[in-house]
Amino acid sequence: MPDLYLYNTLTRKKELFKPLHDNEVRMYTCGPTVYNYAHIGNLRTYIFEDILRRVLEYNGFTVKHVENITDVGHLTDDADQGEDKVEKMAREKKMTAWEIAEFFTKKFQEDIKQLNIKEPHVWCKATDHIADQIETIKKIEKAGYTYRTSDGIYFDTSKLENYGELARLDSTKLKAGARVAMGEKKNPTDFALWKFSPQDKKRQMEWDSPWGKGFPGWHIECSTMSTKYLGVPFDIHCGGIDHIPVHHTNEIAQTWAAEGKKMANFWLHGEFLVIDEQRMGKSAGNFITLQTLIDKGYHPLAYRYFVLNAHYRQKLNFSWEGLDFAQHSLNNLYKSLAQLSEPISEGCGQFEEKFLKAINDDLNTPQALAVMWEMLKSSSCSPAQKAHSLFKFDEVLGLKLKDKFQELKNKTNNIPEQIKELLKTRQQARQNKQWELADKIRDEINSLGYIVEDTPEGQQIKPKQ
Ligand code: AMP
Ligand code: ZN
Repeated sequence: MPDLYLYNTLTRKKELFKPLHDNEVRMYTCGPTVYNYAHIGNLRTYIFEDILRRVLEYNGFTVKHVENITDVGHLTDDADQGEDKVEKMAREKKMTAWEIAEFFTKKFQEDIKQLNIKEPHVWCKATDHIADQIETIKKIEKAGYTYRTSDGIYFDTSKLENYGELARLDSTKLKAGARVAMGEKKNPTDFALWKFSPQDKKRQMEWDSPWGKGFPGWHIECSTMSTKYLGVPFDIHCGGIDHIPVHHTNEIAQTWAAEGKKMANFWLHGEFLVIDEQRMGKSAGNFITLQTLIDKGYHPLAYRYFVLNAHYRQKLNFSWEGLDFAQHSLNNLYKSLAQLSEPISEGCGQFEEKFLKAINDDLNTPQALAVMWEMLKSSSCSPAQKAHSLFKFDEVLGLKLKDKFQELKNKTNNIPEQIKELLKTRQQARQNKQWELADKIRDEINSLGYIVEDTPEGQQIKPKQ
C-alpha cells in the first residue's frame, strides 16, 4: 500500500494515513441543510470530499461513506437562537417543512450527480433518527453533562477538560470575552441538545421526548448517526472549515460524553469558495447555483475542473474568467481523447508514479492535473499507454473521460462507408504528396458533415457538432 499523507486539523499536521480496521476506511461527511439550493461554495466542499474518497479508493482501501441530511434543527443563528431554517423557508414558500426538505434534498442529489460526485453508501436524515438522537442525549445526561433551561436541554461545555481542542479554542479567553447575551446558558460555548417547541407557535416538525415536546439541536444528529453507522472512533470526518469552531467541536464533545471515546482519527476541512473576497453563503445573498452555470452554457464538469485546479486548503476565488479557463481546459482535454487509441494493459509508468505522489501528498489535485497534461503532451509513451494511464487518473479526477472516449469512438464507428472510402483515397493522395487532391477530398468530406484532422497518429475523423 503506498503512503498517503493527509492534513489533520486535529494536529495541524500532514500525517501518514492508516485506517483503524484493516483495509476499510470509515468516513463521515456533514451533509447539506436542505432549506435552499446548494450554492457552488457548498458544492466545492462536496467535490473535495469526493476527491478524498476517490483517492482512498485509488490507494486500494475500501471506503464506507456516510452522509447526513439536516432536515431539522439548524437554526438561523448558530448560537441556538432564531428560527429553524427549514420551517422558515416553508413559511415563506407556503409549503410544508417536509415538502421543503424533500424538494431540496432531491435538488442537492441531482447537483452532485451532475458533478460526478459518488453517492455515499448511507444517506441518513436527521428526522429519520429522532429516537436514536433522544437515546444519545439520555446517555449524555446520564454522564452528567447536561442542564435544563426554559427553552431546552443544554450541553455544559465547562465539564469537558479539552472542549474546543479541534478549534484551539481558549476557554479562559472565551469566558473573559463573552459579551454576547448568554440568556440562561452557563457558558458562551454551551449548546442545545434538545430544544422545546415554542409556546406561542406550533412547529411542523416536533416530537415527544423525556424532556418535553420539541426537536433535536443541530449537532446531535451527526454524533448519533456516525456512531450508529460507523462506530466510534471512525477514521475520517470532513466538512467545510466553518464547521471547525462550532459544529465539529460540539460533535466531538457529545460523542465523548455519550461514548467515552474520541470521535474520529482524522479531521479534514475544505477552505471556502469566495467571491470578491467574501465567503459565498446562502444568507450573504451572493450565491450562485450549479444551475446558473449550466444556464450560462457551462458544463457542470467544468466547475469540477475549476475546483480541482486549486488545492482544497486554499481559498478559491470564483470568477467567470476562471470558469471560462476551466471550460476551455476541459474542452481541450476532451479533444485530446481523439488522439488516443484503445488502452493497453500497460500505462505510462513514470507519470503514474508522479500522479500518485501528487494525490497522496494531501490531495494535491492542481499538481495531479499538471502531471496529466504533461503526460498527454509527452512523446515518451504511446497513445494506447496514455489512454491506460489517463483512465486510471480519471478514477480520481472524475471528469468522465472514459465515457467521452467511448462516445467519440461510437461516433467514429458509425461513419458511413462513403466517408471511409474518401478517407482511404485521401490517405493515398497524401502518401503520393498530392496535397491539392487531399485538400479537395477534405472539403468534400466536410460538405458531407464530417471533419478530418491530420495528427501524428494519422487522419482523425469526427462528425461536425
Ligand atoms: P450547509 O448546507 O450550510 O450545512 O453547508 C454544507 C457544506 O458547505 C458545509 O460543509 C459547509 O462547511 C460548506 N460551505 C458553506 N459555505 C461554503 C463556501 N463558501 N465554500 C465552501 N464550502 C462552504
Ligand atoms: Zn455534522
